[in-house]
Amino acid sequence: MRGIALFGRIRFLDTTLRDGEQTPGVSLSKEEKLAIARALDALGVQVIEAGSAMTSVGERESIKAVAAEDLDAEICSYVRAVASDVDVALECDVDSVHLVVPVSDLHITTKMKSDRKSVIRKAVEITEYAKDHGLIVELSGEDASRADQDYLVSLYTAGIEAGADRLAFCDTVGVLVPEVTGEIFGRLSQLSAPISIHCHNDFGMATANTIAALRAGASQAHVTVNGIGERAGNASLEEVVMTLESLYRIKTGIKCQDLYQLSRMVSRMTGLPLAPNKAIVGENAFTHEAGIHVHGLLADSKTYEPMQPETVGRKRRIVLGKHAGRASVELALREFGSTVTEEQLAQIVARVKELGDKGKRVSDADLQTITDTVLSIQMEPKVKLQEVTVVAGNTVTPTASVKIQLGGVETLEAGIGVGPVDAAINAIRRAISGVADVRLEEYHVDAITGGTNALVEVWVTMAMADRKITARGADADIIMASVEAVLEGINRLMRLEEEDKARCLKA
Ligand code: MN
Repeated sequence: MRGIALFGRIRFLDTTLRDGEQTPGVSLSKEEKLAIARALDALGVQVIEAGSAMTSVGERESIKAVAAEDLDAEICSYVRAVASDVDVALECDVDSVHLVVPVSDLHITTKMKSDRKSVIRKAVEITEYAKDHGLIVELSGEDASRADQDYLVSLYTAGIEAGADRLAFCDTVGVLVPEVTGEIFGRLSQLSAPISIHCHNDFGMATANTIAALRAGASQAHVTVNGIGERAGNASLEEVVMTLESLYRIKTGIKCQDLYQLSRMVSRMTGLPLAPNKAIVGENAFTHEAGIHVHGLLADSKTYEPMQPETVGRKRRIVLGKHAGRASVELALREFGSTVTEEQLAQIVARVKELGDKGKRVSDADLQTITDTVLSIQMEPKVKLQEVTVVAGNTVTPTASVKIQLGGVETLEAGIGVGPVDAAINAIRRAISGVADVRLEEYHVDAITGGTNALVEVWVTMAMADRKITARGADADIIMASVEAVLEGINRLMRLEEEDKARCLKA
């Protein structure tokens, strides 16, 4: 891989706030745009396309606010070849304009009802107008990948003569392939102005095409955080940066360790969740489950990770489930700081698999409880059940009463529900409501043996604040099995909370 890269200095124009905001359903407030712009600037991108000034008054206020931040990055507005677009961009105090003109015959004739000559005339006129007003001009060809390339070169040449500082080539509908991109940029990089590549991801090729253009002489990449943008999105900032850094060993100047935090922020503010398998920033990008892989990771993380998660500000996650092997459990325990014997490890693995077989993801809290149980670190339960009575039938509202002991004090409570199990759980939750706010998030029943006298097993996921644990109860009586599971969950959550408090006091 080393030795094939021939790159000049690479700059980034981030268009999360313009092309990214054109994602269907996305609209960012001024405060959100400001926060994202500050983060992009801190990350090290050279140009921030903050929006399209002609869109609305609100958009202008946002762009103006970003421009007033005094960031290191150049602040840019999208404009068409229309003088009034440049005027409103000037109102926002931007440094530069991304001046976009249609260049394919399809766009020129069908969309603009214009002709090739008029487009060049307009491009030259508005470039001169913007330059006269002190703006940096990046003259951009829309749908350039489907344009007559000789015509495109004549437009760019006329633009450079009119004073354009930079050029941009837009693969507006994402139809480039890397080989063609390389050929095109071999020619365009001979022009006397630096040129940007702007790729869309309709065939999942945006990152590859962007890299091909950069290798062939493009000097600036247009990107968005998380690859958001119209339709299938734009070339993603994190993918382009990490491909250059990790695979081509190019120092981009971007603070890679802040990429993940920025990705989360943009996802939260745009309301666009990431696919778990999204490269670099997806939930699963550094998550491992299968036992055999974790065994390799334990020996050397390079075995199943192409880069260190810390490089992009992330942590490796080991998810335990039914595929968990000894190695993955051991690794997870090591991260807790627990040491166990071989025999104890085998017992812990068996219990983890038992949970995994129920389709559960074993949380950190679950593993801790399992380990404590195996290591016989038995704790006296805080909440103890003394009595439970349930009334149910076809003419009564299911009602339960419970008597529990909580820290040595007896409490009696009653609850109703949609069924007897619900009523019993509600009664318990009311009884402890003074000390803990516990939610039941999942409830699952299995019959261990067949028939109406079957032993049933109940699995519950209980939550308190943002901690979740899975607990189990087994009994011939479904109500008793449910109560047992819920009480176990409550006791474990309360104990973990107590440990947290103790740790805080110590610290
Ligand atoms: Mn675009």
